[in-house]
Amino acid sequence: ISGGIRRTRFAPSPTGPLHLGHAFAALTAARLADPGQFLLRIEDIDRSRCRPEWEQAIHDDLHWLGLSWPQPVMRQSERLPAYAAALERLAAMGLLYPCRCRRADISAALSAPQEGAPGPDGPVYPGTCRGRAMEDAGAGDAIRLDVARGFALLGLDRIGFLDEAVQPGQRHELTAADFIAGIGDVVLARRGMGTSYHLSVVVDDAAQGITLVTRGKDLFDSTYIHALLQALLELPQPLYHHHRLIRDDSGKRLAKRDDARAIAQYRAQGVLAADIIAMVFGGG
Ligand code: GLU
Repeated sequence: ISGGIRRTRFAPSPTGPLHLGHAFAALTAARLADPGQFLLRIEDIDRSRCRPEWEQAIHDDLHWLGLSWPQPVMRQSERLPAYAAALERLAAMGLLYPCRCRRADISAALSAPQEGAPGPDGPVYPGTCRGRAMEDAGAGDAIRLDVARGFALLGLDRIGFLDEAVQPGQRHELTAADFIAGIGDVVLARRGMGTSYHLSVVVDDAAQGITLVTRGKDLFDSTYIHALLQALLELPQPLYHHHRLIRDDSGKRLAKRDDARAIAQYRAQGVLAADIIAMVFGGG
């Protein structure tokens, strides 16, 4: 972890309007950054769900909130060669396999309901396709990481990271056994997409020199996946800051479909940016 500059990013997907939760995440990232070190990144790998008008709205809403960031803005849809290079490197290490299982195959293979909570990506993959050769990858296959092999290659029995907000000063660690049992062989390239959230975010945070990753606590468990990828790809590990989530009056986490909480709605009603800032930082 670099002891120097604090460079953060806000990394929304243009799949809907930004709401109060996004305002809080963006403002938090900007507040925790050194001057001029807050970046915007557009996470638009899922072309079927992203729209140019939502991307424009992200810029408009963030400017309205008083935020600014250096240009050019990184867009993940323009980064596919970087993700392909990372995949190639992991493939050369013998850590990847193509997976043709669909969601229904995976549920069927899990004859008994799994113990414990599902991992950050849902049920733990039972490993049906593990051992298939990358040469046999079909166009409709996903690419998975053989996690056990990854740990073995690194000679590690655990992986971890530091969080300045959640038990600061104490390393959060997950053993290889718990990773395998609770998260499993993660998808690094989704079917027809060439990458995944986990791979893109790790490659891009490193490429942008992000030293402090700020994001919601809902992604806390995903950070173990990112830590493993950083170790395998020999990328510097940033410091993390997983922040609280903004909830609605019934205590539910806000989602993109909660249009009533959209920043654009507040703007249309004449609410001021200062009011939004007070709303998300004051009280709860
Ligand atoms: N695009 C992700 C999201 O909107 C960003 C998560 C992250 O900051 O790593 O949830």
